[in-house]
Amino acid sequence: MTLVLRLATAAMVACALPWVALAGPYSLPRESAVPGGIKLIRLDYKGTALPAVDVDGQRAMVIQDGLDWVAVVGIPLSAPLAPRKVVIHDSEGRQEMAFTVGDKRYASQSLKVAPRQVNLSAEDLARVNRERVIIDAALGRWRDEQPESLHLPQPVPGARSSSFGMRRIFNGESRNPHTGMDIAAPTGTPVLAPIAGTVIDTGEFFFNGNTVFVDHGRGLISMYCHLSAIDVKPGQHLAAGARLGLVGMTGRATGPHLHWGLSLNRAWVDPELFVP
Ligand SMILES: [Zn+2]
Repeated sequence: MTLVLRLATAAMVACALPWVALAGPYSLPRESAVPGGIKLIRLDYKGTALPAVDVDGQRAMVIQDGLDWVAVVGIPLSAPLAPRKVVIHDSEGRQEMAFTVGDKRYASQSLKVAPRQVNLSAEDLARVNRERVIIDAALGRWRDEQPESLHLPQPVPGARSSSFGMRRIFNGESRNPHTGMDIAAPTGTPVLAPIAGTVIDTGEFFFNGNTVFVDHGRGLISMYCHLSAIDVKPGQHLAAGARLGLVGMTGRATGPHLHWGLSLNRAWVDPELFVP
């Protein structure tokens, strides 16, 4: 349905503006070379084989944009403000390219939740540690397939928070920064895959509640948390716009909303950079 509508829209645009080519440039995210942001690096390489780009020992996304190759590199929230580099392996050899990371000061956010969700029992701590392994495995997934687009419509309608990267103070105690975008929406609102992908894993997690992980290719992994229902299974292919679950407030949440996380090369990056 979505595809048909998109083709119709493209055809209408083509009719109205006959000089617009149907195959436009690839839709890249916005660049923001700060912790939690994205660095776009145009490679000095014109070959046809997919080059391998590594950052901090992780494989990074490379996108073919016409004849150009562009590395789309996630910068971890914990990245120091020091020069960083990518290592490029292509059919012409090995090359390094350096880039700098700018400063970004994220505000803090105070939240009140049940005490057992801040100071964990030994049992809950063991559970969280087991779950971290599952999350790390999901974020480490790699498929060569290029995502159909890096413009990602928000998965549910609603007000988007700008709380990505904020330092979190739960019940007066400092905890990890917020690594995704929260979108306020009523419980039961369908959550739609913004672009095509394959479900990596689903489960019920201590902090994230009912969660779905989707692999979009080349190291872009999306995560949908606090769901009241999960509608998909691991291994299932999702077309853009496919329903993957329903908004809820399972796990550590102060009200119904979708927590939307996007990871590139294992680094959580600000989803706002992908929303057209
Ligand atoms: Zn959140």
